[in-house]
Amino acid sequence: MPYTDPLFGIVIFIAIIAAVAFIDFSRNRYRNKKKEESFKNLTKSYDVMGHADGVKEFLKLSENPLPTLEFIAHSYIQSGNAQEAIKIYLGILDSLQNPKDKIEILQSLGIAYYMAGFLQRAKDIFLEILKNYPRNPQVLMHLLKTYEHLSEYKNAIDALECIEEIYDVQKASDFSRSSFTFAPLSVSEQKRFENMLLLNKFYLSTLLLINDHTLPFSSKIQSLNDIKAKQPKLAKIILTYFKSVSHTLFWEQANALSQDQVNNMIDILWDFERKDVPLERITNPQILDVYRAKGWIYDEKACEMFELDNMRILQRYCKFQTTLNFEYRCHSCNNIFPFENPRCPHCGELLCNDLICKIQKVDYETSYSLL
Ligand SMILES: [Zn+2]
Repeated sequence: MPYTDPLFGIVIFIAIIAAVAFIDFSRNRYRNKKKEESFKNLTKSYDVMGHADGVKEFLKLSENPLPTLEFIAHSYIQSGNAQEAIKIYLGILDSLQNPKDKIEILQSLGIAYYMAGFLQRAKDIFLEILKNYPRNPQVLMHLLKTYEHLSEYKNAIDALECIEEIYDVQKASDFSRSSFTFAPLSVSEQKRFENMLLLNKFYLSTLLLINDHTLPFSSKIQSLNDIKAKQPKLAKIILTYFKSVSHTLFWEQANALSQDQVNNMIDILWDFERKDVPLERITNPQILDVYRAKGWIYDEKACEMFELDNMRILQRYCKFQTTLNFEYRCHSCNNIFPFENPRCPHCGELLCNDLICKIQKVDYETSYSLL
């Protein structure tokens, strides 16, 4: 076929289209195969070390990988496996270039470090974010909790004051400033948020006072009593401190406790030894019920609380020895914990534990030496 023949041009044109289509098809097939391999490798890497490589490969080959990886990391945090979440976040961070994108992942990484107990690393990350984006109340709140766990109460109060300041400015401008700050809050939400800030302030001030060893003892006690009068939810923490320094001081304050406060402090009252309880000086009827249930007061009066009255009857008529055990249920998320935490380890709510009293038979187990 001569070159001048129009048919030659058409054949060449069709051949070029076919070649391009074939190359494109092969390339897509290769990319899909790589993607599948990368996902398989990522899944495999959950069981062993080497997360970072799998994450990097997945990030390179997937079109929108962040939501998937964040979902996996979040699932790890929910199941208590913060270490795996940390590996994923570190892998994502390495591949991100835009500083704004990094903030969100850094915040999640800081939370994962906090959950895993690496408090110093969590603190460094939150401070790094705030250095670049200071008006960020969510990060400030995480920083506050980290300071609290590090026993740096003064710094925690400073963080709280920054949140208050941002909130006040936002409230004055009717929540119209949006970037990294508060979403508009309804009146009831505002009230709840303000109460939360106030409770945190009293709580942190209480911890600061209790741990301040330079303050004269009398003024420390006076300040703690002032806080207790303003915020009854702190009575348990303050009276636990009083119990640790002086039983006389504890019993001076205990008579004035309300019924709800006593019901929330049965664990502390139950743990006293007989010689440390001046029964003749106790006038609070709810506290007397606790010792009636313990068998230290022997009269015909019934206890007001179901568990205590059961204990009272068991102490008298049951051949088995029984005692009370305690658990703590968060009023906000309903999780139950064997130990009391002022701040719920699951939802972070402050001072919202309900005390659960459980009657148990005392078992005397024979212990054998392991040597
Ligand atoms: Zn909770």
